[in-house]
Amino acid sequence: MNNRQSLEHVIDILEQIAPLALAESWDNVGLLAGDRADEVGRIMTCLTFTHTTLQEAIDTHANLVVVHHPIPFKPISRVSGDSITGKLLLQALRSRIAIYSMHTAWDNANQGINRQWAAALGLKDQSPLVPSPIPKLKEMNLGTGISGTVAPSQNLSDIQAAISAFLPSASVRSTHPPHQPITKLGIVCGSGGSMVAVAAERGCDGFLTGEATYHQCLESEALGVAMIMTGHHASEFFGMQSLAKILSELLPQVHCFASTREDSPF
Ligand SMILES: [Zn+2]
Repeated sequence: MNNRQSLEHVIDILEQIAPLALAESWDNVGLLAGDRADEVGRIMTCLTFTHTTLQEAIDTHANLVVVHHPIPFKPISRVSGDSITGKLLLQALRSRIAIYSMHTAWDNANQGINRQWAAALGLKDQSPLVPSPIPKLKEMNLGTGISGTVAPSQNLSDIQAAISAFLPSASVRSTHPPHQPITKLGIVCGSGGSMVAVAAERGCDGFLTGEATYHQCLESEALGVAMIMTGHHASEFFGMQSLAKILSELLPQVHCFASTREDSPF
């Protein structure tokens, strides 16, 4: 039998997992819809709030969706059925489903997505690409992205093979030839292509992200940093599955599960 917990308590746990101060300044994180006084018995995690994931939350009687990508993301001046965002928010509120996003705070958390990648690829001497400007977080070796040494040094095709072993569903693409040696790898999950120059400054010769633009890939070529792309969904979705597991351990009274219907749009 599952009990219920106050949303307030669940939020305390979520903030222990990923302090919101870790989020980028442009981000929109925390409780985005809902009432902290409500009770929660079922929590679903997913990457993006869409008609598919909202319907799944309704069908599975979730009271809270912990969504990676914030909704709303940019400020909105109305919540009406005239926009996709408005429609989704209206239906969530009518169904008494609260929405919480950790986004870049979860990307960069101690057990977060970038660190899960770094652990899967066996990176040593891990440190953030950009240390947090907040002294307490900086002291904890937290910040934006992660970098670490590849020891012993591998070539690009070895790294690609390790990525495929970790995430068999990812279709991995990269700049540079397969024999390019990689001694230090930077990682920013999601759309991290703009961080390749920072990775180069930190001495990385490889950079793993979900997706990058054509021009960011040209920049990586010019910098001599191999850009390795797994696809946006593949670079992050596993992190929402692991988050559901972490939540299950910390909130044993609540049923926590990851979406099973969400898929890449490609
Ligand atoms: Zn993303």
